[in-house]
Amino acid sequence: MQEIRYELTKTPKKKPAPGDPLPFGSIFTDHMFVMDYTAGTGWHDPRIVPYAPLQLDPAAIVLHYAQESFEGLKAYRTPDGSIQLFRPDRNAVRFKSTNERMVMPVVPEEDFITAVKALVKTEKDWVPSQPGESLYIRPFCIATEAHLGVKPSNTYKFMVICCPVAAYYPTGLNPVKIYVEDKYVRATPGGTGYIKCGGNYAASLISQEIAESIGYSQTLWLDGVERKYVEEVGSMNCFFKIDGTIYTAPTIGTVLPGVTRMSCIDLLKKWGYNVSEERLPVADVMKASREGKLEEVFGTGTAAVISPVGVLKYKDEVAQINNGEIGEVTQRLYDTLTGIQWGRLPDDMHWTT
Ligand code: PMP
Repeated sequence: MQEIRYELTKTPKKKPAPGDPLPFGSIFTDHMFVMDYTAGTGWHDPRIVPYAPLQLDPAAIVLHYAQESFEGLKAYRTPDGSIQLFRPDRNAVRFKSTNERMVMPVVPEEDFITAVKALVKTEKDWVPSQPGESLYIRPFCIATEAHLGVKPSNTYKFMVICCPVAAYYPTGLNPVKIYVEDKYVRATPGGTGYIKCGGNYAASLISQEIAESIGYSQTLWLDGVERKYVEEVGSMNCFFKIDGTIYTAPTIGTVLPGVTRMSCIDLLKKWGYNVSEERLPVADVMKASREGKLEEVFGTGTAAVISPVGVLKYKDEVAQINNGEIGEVTQRLYDTLTGIQWGRLPDDMHWTT
């Protein structure tokens, strides 16, 4: 990547004061990273400039055919005041696989990390320091060519923006109620379930609305062919502890390979748990619940880290998990991962930078 050009703001915004509310994804920092791509030339003009609206042609391909990719990760302030990222190399790899699937030019992994680090350094005073707070980082790529034929764009922008965010669980882990979606599907084999493209999320909103309308907070998706196997929850991967074994859906093309998911699997194996990535029928989950063998259910993702599930509703059956209490594995993973991310625990796994 060429050298980053800096054009710093002359009118910095007022930063939130310690203790101010930080509603997720709505307060943006002073600057953004931008780099352009032109077919034939490649990526050029990396720059950090004041955060501002974009000028886009109304015919830009992204607006019509959703040729777009994104990532999500966080910067954490440690007890000594320094700032660290959690496994940004894994986000860089996933971004690459998203761009490949979307026929978009790949951002080299080292350039992705350089861009993220440069922006976080520029915005270091925006990284909040109250317990559980962090700086959410959103790298993304859009197709900018003005063209209404369906084809890959000749021009793109790669950008990074960020926003300070509050603790997801200000009062400690809180179990959520999950609705199992048995009509709509999120992903099918050969589709885009394994990447982070905006279209996946647009298509998921309808089920989220149904879940909320009946008092549930998120949707658990089943596989798109038979609607038989559990896949993932909203914007989290999902784990089930049944009779001592911990199950999570295999990443065979229809599930997003979560960075938190792979970190949990590594920790669980290190701790000696039996982890299965075999496909798990939802009927087996409900049966285990009836037999008192469904010990823990939790979601994993960058936003909440670990999200305990207290209730699962599938068709007319409602499973209460562990009497709504936080399970032992759920709590241990949460404590360990948040401890490493915020620098309170030693990083034996070498996950932070
Ligand atoms: N599944 C989906 C659909 C998601 O959007 C996310 C959030 N990126 C996850 C799982 C969890 O991934 P990660 O642990 O990398 O945040």
